[in-house]
Amino acid sequence: RGTSLVQVRVAQVSDRHLVVLAEDLTQARRLEAVRRDFVVNVSHELKTPVGALSLLAETVQDAADDPEAVRRFAGRMQSEAQRLSSLVHEIIELSRLQVAGALGPLSTVDLDAVVAEAVDRARTAATAKSVRLEVGGDTGVHLFGNHDLLVTAVRNLVDNAVAYSGAASHVGIGVREVGDLVEIAVVDQGIGIPAADQERVFERFYRVDAARSRETGGTGLGLSIVKHVAADHGGDVTVWSQPGRGSTFTIRLPRVPDERHDQHPHDQHP
Ligand code: ADP
Repeated sequence: RGTSLVQVRVAQVSDRHLVVLAEDLTQARRLEAVRRDFVVNVSHELKTPVGALSLLAETVQDAADDPEAVRRFAGRMQSEAQRLSSLVHEIIELSRLQVAGALGPLSTVDLDAVVAEAVDRARTAATAKSVRLEVGGDTGVHLFGNHDLLVTAVRNLVDNAVAYSGAASHVGIGVREVGDLVEIAVVDQGIGIPAADQERVFERFYRVDAARSRETGGTGLGLSIVKHVAADHGGDVTVWSQPGRGSTFTIRLPRVPDERHDQHPHDQHP
């Protein structure tokens, strides 16, 4: 697509021989631009909570003789600090995922355990909003992968499902095998995502509604982390959504067979 940038180096190795080396720099330049954009966005995103914190600190100083105001501003400082902390955490997570070999050593991962752990960590937020988390039955599906990264990915989806749902709604989390693939689906009955935004929600720092995302403590990085984790496992993540009705995010991963778990008792030969 577009023009390519090729670096050509020529060396005369003898009277009759030339060596020509051609290197395609297009991809390298593109990655460089992506990285530069990321740094610009990170600086911009960090400025917001840092600015808010210093403003709040000034306000607290001015309100020193009003204990109620001090308490209120301290509470807001705490939530800005929390936002800053999750932003930094996710930036580090994403940078780590962008390095080749980020998956680390693979091991057999029990997807039921992955889902249970992710759901467990999202439970406090769900309970606070009376959102019911419903996990599909025990599937016994295993694959080779990185347990912690998969928990992070599923948790990001469940956190979003809760954050963008109304009170007292349901969020379903299910695992199933479809041929050689494993699907992990997170279904909500929340606000949904307009068609025009559905492709873009996986981009770094992209938010459909910045004000709402800020309200929910969102960083705009969650789904790009999910996308990286899925891609690193050889799979992908897709979204189906209807505004006002809800969204379904599906992670699809190849189920690299693991003999220890695939062998049924009747398959074993003495
Ligand atoms: P954030 O931290 O802002 O939630 P994400 O990368 O996780 O960032 O998501 C990007 C954007 O996609 C969100 O700001 C939100 O607008 C939208 N989004 C993600 N998940 C959902 C969902 N389950 N329902 C509705 N909108 C969603």
